[in-house]
Amino acid sequence: MDHFLYKNGTLHAEDVPLPDIAAQVGTPFYVYSTATLERHYQLFTEALSPLPHLVCFAIKSLSNIAVLKVLGDLGAGMDVVSGGEYRRAKAAGVPGSRIVFSGVGKTREEMRLALEGGVRQFNVESEPELRALSEVAASMGATAPIALRINPDVDAKTHEKIATGKKDNKFGIPIDRARAVYAEAARLPGIDVVGIDVHIGSQLTALEPFELAFTKVAELTETLRGDGHNIRRLDLGGGLGIPYTRSNEAPPLPLDYGAMIKRTVGHLGCEIEIEPGRLISGNAGLLVSSVIYVKQGEGRDFLIVDAAMNDLARPSMYGAHHDIVPVVEPAPATAAQEFDVVGPVCETGDTFARHRPLTPLSEGDLVAFRSAGAYGAVMASEYNTRPLIPEVLVKGDQFAVIRARPSFDEILNRDTIPTWM
Ligand SMILES: *Cc1c(COP(=O)(O)O)cnc(C)c1O
Repeated sequence: MDHFLYKNGTLHAEDVPLPDIAAQVGTPFYVYSTATLERHYQLFTEALSPLPHLVCFAIKSLSNIAVLKVLGDLGAGMDVVSGGEYRRAKAAGVPGSRIVFSGVGKTREEMRLALEGGVRQFNVESEPELRALSEVAASMGATAPIALRINPDVDAKTHEKIATGKKDNKFGIPIDRARAVYAEAARLPGIDVVGIDVHIGSQLTALEPFELAFTKVAELTETLRGDGHNIRRLDLGGGLGIPYTRSNEAPPLPLDYGAMIKRTVGHLGCEIEIEPGRLISGNAGLLVSSVIYVKQGEGRDFLIVDAAMNDLARPSMYGAHHDIVPVVEPAPATAAQEFDVVGPVCETGDTFARHRPLTPLSEGDLVAFRSAGAYGAVMASEYNTRPLIPEVLVKGDQFAVIRARPSFDEILNRDTIPTWM
């Protein structure tokens, strides 16, 4: 459920009509709903209660500092995968004690940054990383709290580019090697073993793969405790999927996910961490664009819009589906017409949808891409020298630009011509 509804025939973000935002900031732009972000966060904490837990928002899905502050102010933790994201979490006022540092290739500089600024735990993904962290922490006279990311060899049954829990993926330490690596971790200076971490993929639409993985984590917890490790925290990752279409079957609800967590690991007395990204941010955002041209092609009509693959990469990158809706509500019995919805970028891959039934649209009409909050703005580029589009945050009847569109001067001035020319 979200807060983007038609009111009096116009699509609103909470209580703000989208044409009002378009008139002020121009199209295309991203718009996020505070109420939706808050509600999704709360669904997770309610689902995990009364277990001791921390919901760590996966910043990589939507990293605007204003959005992080909405969640951080509610008490959310943050899952970061780079020094840049760590800095964003801090800039949003989130204390280090609520920041989990994940990622397969942390550099020594990033480790130092987090150890200096405070960190809840590092999720360590390999032996070389473990040894590097030990060296860095020991050289600073610090202790790094760690969980080892275990690869449980579970098929997440999701898109191959976002499956991470099979043994041929680059992520984590194979579960068969876990005991040996934990033993090494316990001997290393500057390392404090606090728990186990697992994250098997993104946009999962069934609970079974999670349940298989968490059951393995529970068994491993007992084994490692038997080996003398004080396992007190389980980080179960993110990955719960969202509905991208109205028609497809609904993914599991956070409440059912929470019940499954209690069933699989609830008896262990561990503090539970989860790292949802998409489920918090995905349906909390729209991409709003306007129609530039309607072009008649051979056997198909093209809707050429002012947003493109550089603004929203998911369709060209993963073949992902986004519902596209007109901002002005069509009259009830309006017949649909099929369009290929495309952007202006010079690549055939710049296609948002093929043969998509839409009500008739003409030049200047506004359309909204739904479920664009996650992995939208964060993956944008300036390909074709198209400026990064603005991000807008709505709360009730208020809205604010939370990242402005750069000017062309700003973009051009980033390049420098060598003095020898
Ligand atoms: C991407 C990622 C997440 C978030 O995944 P979602 O599918 O957006 O919930 C959480 N943890 C880690 C380690 C990730 O890489």
